[in-house]
Amino acid sequence: MKSFKKLLFLQYFALILGMILFVLFSNLFSSKLSYEYEKKYVEQISSVLAENLKLIAEIYPNKYLIEESMRRTVKDIPSLDGLYLSFGFKKYCYPEKLKVKYACSNKKKILFTETKVIVCLPIYEEYASEFLEKEKEGYFLAIFNRSYVDQIRNYWFLDSLFISIFFIIIASVVIVSVWIDINADFNKLKSFIKELKDPDRILAPLEGKLDEFKIKEFRDVADLIVKLTLKISSLNEHIKQLALTDSLTGLYNRNYLNAVFEKNYVPFWKREKFPLSVALLDIDNFKSINDIYGHQKGDEVLRRLGEIVKNSVRGSDIPVRFGGEEILIIFPSSRKEEALMAVKRIRKKLMKEDFGIGRPVTFSSGLADFPSDISVPGKLDELIKVADERLYKAKNQGKNRDVLE
Ligand code: GH3
Ligand code: MG
Ligand code: MG
Repeated sequence: MKSFKKLLFLQYFALILGMILFVLFSNLFSSKLSYEYEKKYVEQISSVLAENLKLIAEIYPNKYLIEESMRRTVKDIPSLDGLYLSFGFKKYCYPEKLKVKYACSNKKKILFTETKVIVCLPIYEEYASEFLEKEKEGYFLAIFNRSYVDQIRNYWFLDSLFISIFFIIIASVVIVSVWIDINADFNKLKSFIKELKDPDRILAPLEGKLDEFKIKEFRDVADLIVKLTLKISSLNEHIKQLALTDSLTGLYNRNYLNAVFEKNYVPFWKREKFPLSVALLDIDNFKSINDIYGHQKGDEVLRRLGEIVKNSVRGSDIPVRFGGEEILIIFPSSRKEEALMAVKRIRKKLMKEDFGIGRPVTFSSGLADFPSDISVPGKLDELIKVADERLYKAKNQGKNRDVLE
């Protein structure tokens, strides 16, 4: 059920990510497309203007008619901001206040500025041969407003945004309904299995309608299903147990520290700011036990130490197999002086054990607590680091001892 939930959320996350990428890409794509569109559009219109130029040639040099023709063209083409015609000293433009700062060479050219597109048509080249007879050279400028194309780009972008939002809404509805549906099925199944524990209740209304063989078959199947579900839940428990405890010593493992302690305990500790101490224990000369008596003997010592630790601390204390032969014990609500008493109890019991190696087994330990050694509650790592340094000190001072400072 949990993994299904995760899968569902993963799918949803993938969908949202896909939609964001879709919006980004469609924006990029629409920019490129609109640029191409704009170029084509300007090309087309400039050929219309070239025709217009021929017309102007016919009315040249009537200033009034030329400007009137320009006015009509600018009015007819919404994206056109203005037109400008220049021959030697003569200049015609519409609108009158149009400022022209663009140099035009003897080739047809399209210039893109941030807000405008300027199409430059040199007159003497191809468009108006009749001008040639009258004047030497000149040029014709058509100035387009780019915001016209920008609008199209914005529409495309909005379009893709709407499509994405639409899909996300549909997907949310589908996912929520699937979720509700599956939850309902799951609950139905759970209550059905619960009912199966009492097959007589299900069979009572059917009495007389089913033959003996079918009744027996039903009872057997119901029994099997109930046993299977019990088995599955006990296996689940076992798997959880395996994941959080160390099989040799029976103590918690590091998964427990990360998964349970950090998640459930640390926030509580931070909030309540109660004292908390840790003790880090490390068996002395453990390698020599392995080397001389074999790994199995080492395992036996570890197993026994695990039992002793478990029996010597309170139910609220948390013993963890921290490394190979290192044990970490967390004592919530205790200062290190109190924790030391538990550590001493453990040592006393361990040293009483006869492992058949001709000497008692000892360990060294380092202890630290909040608030003496760290100023902020919740920083278990820092506390362990201090305890580890003290453990190192204990080893250097000759082992089989506890260091608190
Ligand atoms: P010191 O007093 O300085 O701690 O010396 P030491 O020999 O105890 O320390 P060292 O770190 O050198 O050796 C630890 C040994 O513990 C090495 C490793 O083979 C052994 N060990 C780690 N895990 C296990 C285990 O699960 N079973 C057994 N038998 N040995 C283990
Ligand atoms: Mg060690
Ligand atoms: Mg050791």
